[in-house]
Amino acid sequence: MNSVFDVIIVGAGMVGATIACGLARSGLNVAIIDHQLPPAFIEDEAPHIRVSALSFASEQVLRHVGAWPHIANKRLCPYRRLAVNERPSKNGLSAWLPDISAWARTEFNADDIFPGQGQSHLGHIVENDVVQLGLHEAMAELDQIELFCPDQIIRMQLDGDEKKIELAQHGVLTAKLVIGADGAQSKVREQANLGQFREQYEQQAFVCTVEYQGQQDDITWQSFTSHGPMAFLPLADSGPLIDGQIKHYASLVWYDSADAIKTLKNMSDAELLATLQRKYPSELPVLNHIVARASFPLFKSHAIDYVKEGVAIAGDAAHTINPLAGQGVNLGFLDAAVLIEVVAQAVMNNDNFASKSVLSEYQKRRRFENQTMMNLMDAFYYGFSNDNFPLRLVRNLGLGLANHAGIVKNQVVKYAIGASGDLPKLAKPA
Ligand SMILES: Cc1cc2nc3c(=O)[nH]c(=O)nc-3n(C[C@H](O)[C@H](O)[C@H](O)COP(=O)(O)OP(=O)(O)OC[C@H]3O[C@@H](n4cnc5c(N)ncnc54)[C@H](O)[C@@H]3O)c2cc1C
Repeated sequence: MNSVFDVIIVGAGMVGATIACGLARSGLNVAIIDHQLPPAFIEDEAPHIRVSALSFASEQVLRHVGAWPHIANKRLCPYRRLAVNERPSKNGLSAWLPDISAWARTEFNADDIFPGQGQSHLGHIVENDVVQLGLHEAMAELDQIELFCPDQIIRMQLDGDEKKIELAQHGVLTAKLVIGADGAQSKVREQANLGQFREQYEQQAFVCTVEYQGQQDDITWQSFTSHGPMAFLPLADSGPLIDGQIKHYASLVWYDSADAIKTLKNMSDAELLATLQRKYPSELPVLNHIVARASFPLFKSHAIDYVKEGVAIAGDAAHTINPLAGQGVNLGFLDAAVLIEVVAQAVMNNDNFASKSVLSEYQKRRRFENQTMMNLMDAFYYGFSNDNFPLRLVRNLGLGLANHAGIVKNQVVKYAIGASGDLPKLAKPA
């Protein structure tokens, strides 16, 4: 087995595996390490609990690296419409506000965003395991990638020209460039002393996969309440199951205080079903069954630096943001695309692709963008999660006006789904 590579990537999650495919397609030899493989895909089973709303831009990146067909042939749910509103409040002065929630409901539609372009959806809701598995299948098609998984890292040496990573089972790997795509608790970030700002939010997220009645929905919606948003994300149908029925699934996300989330987690299935049906907006379809539930503490974090000589970090290793608008891994895919572009360009120019000056271009193009999105999410989080009367009035007027703002409204959603500017120029396969 080879032990000398151009690049070693730590973390074969969604972002690390994307970078591996992109760099290998640019002609570099890549080692990629993870301590666990994604679970195998089972066609008829219910969707797994962790899902992501993948933007238009993320789909393009995944197509470029050859993973999209492997994802699309498993399970995904396109969404054509996206809606946001605020629930009327029964508290304090806000209770006296007229109920304008129907007028103030903002809905975005793929037909308006991409008129006459044959683009029928704004994005897809996909299980994280399906995305990762699709990427692993794409990696397996590329001879320039060697996957070390499952294996454990014993030691990393990230100084000097030749970086070294010692693995429990496969000995020492060396490369000029090490990329940390090892998630929020990144050891690469820590060991390379890239620094980090981190802050925990008071709210937590309760996520629940449910089976519902009716048709598979083509809309994902989010309703803001004083305790935080409540979201509905339709998932791919699955089945036929034992009784020969196609089942419709959705992922519900409920943001609230730690105590409230604990109560939800401890409810029986019957209690939880009744609570969801009662507390969610009336557009929630009738629920049949709770498939799975989990909760997540929420924090934002941002690395001070993304790069140093011979080292770069990407995805959650570099930043985590409030997931209320489902932007986390979408930012990670854009990191991946820019890092692939910058490194591939250096290879083409016969420059040292691991040099700090080359990698700094990646940091320059991504860190500010990621910080801007983080600030925007905070503006939503702090601006909406309260019952303050004047703020509520402004918010409702703002949402209502946004819904009637035509071009401006469409530009906002284009920005959110990454369709407003040029995508990074990804290299054609070598
Ligand atoms: C409740 C919730 C909802 C979310 N919803 C969305 C959404 O709708 N849309 C969206 O875009 N984002 C969403 N996110 C964020 C998204 O899940 C993350 O941004 C994404 O998983 C990050 O991907 P990653 O590849 O950077 O890191 P990870 O998914 O954390 O992958 C890291 C990989 O590195 C491996 N690894 C870690 N340490 C080591 C080590 N020492 N050695 C070897 N391997 C290692 C891990 O096994 C893993 O495979 C959500 C997050 C939460 C909490």
